[in-house]
Amino acid sequence: MPRPVRAEISPAALRHNLALIRQKAGQAKIWSVVKANAYGHGIDHVWRALQSSDGFALLDLNEAIRLRELGWTGPILLLEGFFEPDDLLLIDRYQLTTAVHSFWQLAAIAAARVQRPIPVYLKVNSGMNRLGFAPERLHAAWREASATPQIGEIILMSHFASADEDAGVAEPMALIGSLTAALRLPHCLANSAATLWHPQTHADWVRPGIVLYGASPSGRWQDIADTGLMPVMRLTSQIIAVQHLQTGARVGYGGRFSAAGPQRIGIVACGYADGYPRQAPSGTPVLVNGVRTGIVGTVSMDMIAVDLTPCPDAQVGSPVELWGPALPVDDVAHAAGTLGYELLSALAPRVPVVTG
Ligand SMILES: *Cc1c(COP(=O)(O)O)cnc(C)c1O
Repeated sequence: MPRPVRAEISPAALRHNLALIRQKAGQAKIWSVVKANAYGHGIDHVWRALQSSDGFALLDLNEAIRLRELGWTGPILLLEGFFEPDDLLLIDRYQLTTAVHSFWQLAAIAAARVQRPIPVYLKVNSGMNRLGFAPERLHAAWREASATPQIGEIILMSHFASADEDAGVAEPMALIGSLTAALRLPHCLANSAATLWHPQTHADWVRPGIVLYGASPSGRWQDIADTGLMPVMRLTSQIIAVQHLQTGARVGYGGRFSAAGPQRIGIVACGYADGYPRQAPSGTPVLVNGVRTGIVGTVSMDMIAVDLTPCPDAQVGSPVELWGPALPVDDVAHAAGTLGYELLSALAPRVPVVTG
């Protein structure tokens, strides 16, 4: 028998989430974001269920080529643009759309030989200060792009730093509005949080990622609990051993947990080398036999220990859900001081992924 840890992907949940996001997005077209191997779910496992998307957005040329090889013929957007002029050969060959955030990229396109004009997402820095033309250079960039025959359609792109927080999108939206009033370009602005919570950002295209996978853009499950979004990944394993602790007995590396009284614990075949967060403290939620309990002691590379007090029927072979439909990844991430984004996208290559 193979080691029991595995990740089940639900195509039904993906289709459901995409349909729900389409309702929220109104007239806007949808780039389904599948960067980081579809947030850890596997591009191969998700793309068919997301085929009614208007396009797929990702970062890596290899992932874009993979999508083409799988049979996707629709639009593909490179969210970070390209990294050197030679990348334009592949962008042209595979008919990709690219973000452009710097003048050197405009110059590279103008110097390239292409079979057909490349559609370009001109990115403006609206306050996040990662990528994008400075607001005062946007018009110069747009003039240059418009005068470049190798560039086809031009769409304005920006990204929000705080669409999931109280600060919201008012400041960047005001800036974008003032900059683009004269340009009449289609816009693509919204990530998941803006798609859900700021309809004024929807414009022509939206770029949802995390919500397609049924996790919260804010990191708090309760923020999306009433939307109907469904978790797509279920990470499961089994109890492979049971220990009966006496009062004061310690568990795991460093003995950081000690039993307050006699206690049964289960050892689960899943550790940080599978993508379970090593920093998760005792008490981080986990389901055994469908019953919610908590982990005890330090997460090891290949194992965690769980308290079996609330599940007296549990034994070797009992099913364990680390996260999934019955235990939101956001709750596990919150306990570990991180986000569902990180846990999902850090699923380790050694975990078999199966489509449910
Ligand atoms: C990752 C990413 C998105 C999607 O973000 P979510 O918060 O997962 O919806 C959208 N736009 C850009 C530029 C991104 O890098």
